[in-house]
Amino acid sequence: AFALTGCSSERGGDAGTGSGEETTKGFAADATIGVALPDKTSENWVLAGQLFTDGLKEAGFKADVQYAPASNTVAEQQNQIQAMVTGGAKVIIIGAKDGKQLATQVEAARDAGVTVIAYDRLIENTDAVDYYVAFDNFKVGELQGQALLDGLAERAGHDAPYNIELFSGSPDDANSAVFFDGAMSILQPKIDDGTLKVVSGQTEIAQTATEGWKAENAQRRMDSLLTSTYSSETLDGVLSPNDTLARAIITSVQGAGKDVPVVTGQDSEVESVKSIMEGIQYSTINKDTTLLVQQSIKMVGQLQKGEEVDVNDTESYDNGVKVVPAYLLDPIIVTKENALEAYANVPSLLEIVKSYQ
Ligand code: BGC
Repeated sequence: AFALTGCSSERGGDAGTGSGEETTKGFAADATIGVALPDKTSENWVLAGQLFTDGLKEAGFKADVQYAPASNTVAEQQNQIQAMVTGGAKVIIIGAKDGKQLATQVEAARDAGVTVIAYDRLIENTDAVDYYVAFDNFKVGELQGQALLDGLAERAGHDAPYNIELFSGSPDDANSAVFFDGAMSILQPKIDDGTLKVVSGQTEIAQTATEGWKAENAQRRMDSLLTSTYSSETLDGVLSPNDTLARAIITSVQGAGKDVPVVTGQDSEVESVKSIMEGIQYSTINKDTTLLVQQSIKMVGQLQKGEEVDVNDTESYDNGVKVVPAYLLDPIIVTKENALEAYANVPSLLEIVKSYQ
């Protein structure tokens, strides 16, 4: 569903210019705002829940923040959204567990006059999603692909060709394909010209997927790749779509007694930032959750006042039925080298980085 055209990294640039839909509605300044988040597959989701609870209250709203439990997640999230509609929420912000399985619930929301904002993950195959707020997912992938190339040149200890393997995220998350496409836009030309060799031959997204974004699934796949493909070959690099999976991949390689390859990541999780500072994991991405939550709450405020909602991208996120107007924030690549500047505005991570200086 994600059109590759119009995906250049300039897209995120004109923040705040706003060309959103006109709305004349507005609602009470102390209305209930629902926030439905998926299970806690990475630290960013845990933090988002706290920030929404505090930020919405501070803005004068009543906050109804729910996580889908780790089991029966899709059905539970569907029930939570339905309950928010029945409970009279004016806006529902959704971090989807499975973006393809919420059409019925968001359509019920729309019919009740509720505005639906897809948060971080797109909701697909329905016209009842009003806005999307996220970091630029395609750019995340591009940054990961470039980091893998840079890391290989820096650390592989030999010239090309480099042996690599590719991992992608959960197939039920619309972001997974966008991250992968972004990364492959950088890596495919280097595979084609022989700079990179995916020794297993597994380059299709279906072959590289990590069900549920679960660490154990990535670790199991890495274990089996090491056995099947790397008994005599050296593994130089691994494209990993996030930090949780990066650490699982590293654990697998270490468990097999092999040198740690260049491994990318995303989310700036504490353990990965430490690993980067120790020279183990190569890179991560800073997607500051505080900024993403702030932008979402700003949208809620605009909707409450009946103002035009800020968006800065109206062409990239086709959900299969409509192009969802989006506000995209800029992700930042982080390596050991630039960590100090990359986390200049994230005090907790900056402190960790400084402790290694
Ligand atoms: C988010 C990533 C996160 C992943 C697993 C994705 O939708 O964009 O930041 O690593 O989900 O939780």
